[in-house]
Amino acid sequence: MGTFLFDKIIFGPVKSRRLGASLGVNLLPTNSKICNFDCIYCECGLTDSTKGDLPSRNQVAEELEEYLKESVSIGRTIDAITFAGNGEPTIHKDFAGIIEDTYHLRNTYFPKAQIALLTNSTTVGSKKIRQTFKLIDQVILKLDSVNKQTVELLNCPLGSFNLEKTIELLASLENPIVQTMFVQGIYRNKTINNTTEEEIIPWLQALDKIKPSLVMIYTIARDTPFDTLSKVPLEKLNEIGKRVEDLGFEIQISG
Ligand code: SF4
Repeated sequence: MGTFLFDKIIFGPVKSRRLGASLGVNLLPTNSKICNFDCIYCECGLTDSTKGDLPSRNQVAEELEEYLKESVSIGRTIDAITFAGNGEPTIHKDFAGIIEDTYHLRNTYFPKAQIALLTNSTTVGSKKIRQTFKLIDQVILKLDSVNKQTVELLNCPLGSFNLEKTIELLASLENPIVQTMFVQGIYRNKTINNTTEEEIIPWLQALDKIKPSLVMIYTIARDTPFDTLSKVPLEKLNEIGKRVEDLGFEIQISG
């Protein structure tokens, strides 16, 4: 199926229900996806770490400043600056410096805009990365399942990934936002479905431990690398969302 890559460092702004007019920042190559996961549903396609250069800290700062400056001059609205793009943003070696630059640029040009980060949670163990969270208004952290086998099958971690430790680390963060992709289908002759009771009960228990400020529940919206996967029906997402609300957490559902 036809997956999609962002062909720029700065992209958008795209309309986001939560963030408003959200300007995207892609710290990964523009011609390939680089990630330490290889999620089978990734809209950017499969991970290919062999090609493509990551933009430098200077390049990101220059392009971002140019875009923000122009936006001020033409009256373009920017409600958020969101780190997302072709892979995992926090694996950029200058991620901390880039966040500092962004923080200052945001304060200069759009002081009311939020800085947001979409991360797969693999780097929350790094003190340096956790320190950057103080400058980020919305840290949105992936937790698709708390079942090791499902994580192996669905997220395909490319290095060592300790699920229990990650849950502990998420629980230690201030106001974490948890994002879970629900998906169903077949992969490598195995059934994938992270909406079953065996999946949902421990996932809810993990949320109860993490105490998220928000749980974002979503499903496949665009093409994925494998056409044996499908969307989870909205009714099912709503049912899961209701159980999260019953625990006392705010939810956002995108079906
Ligand atoms: S973590 Fe995100 S970017 Fe990385 S493979 Fe998964 S969906 Fe794609």
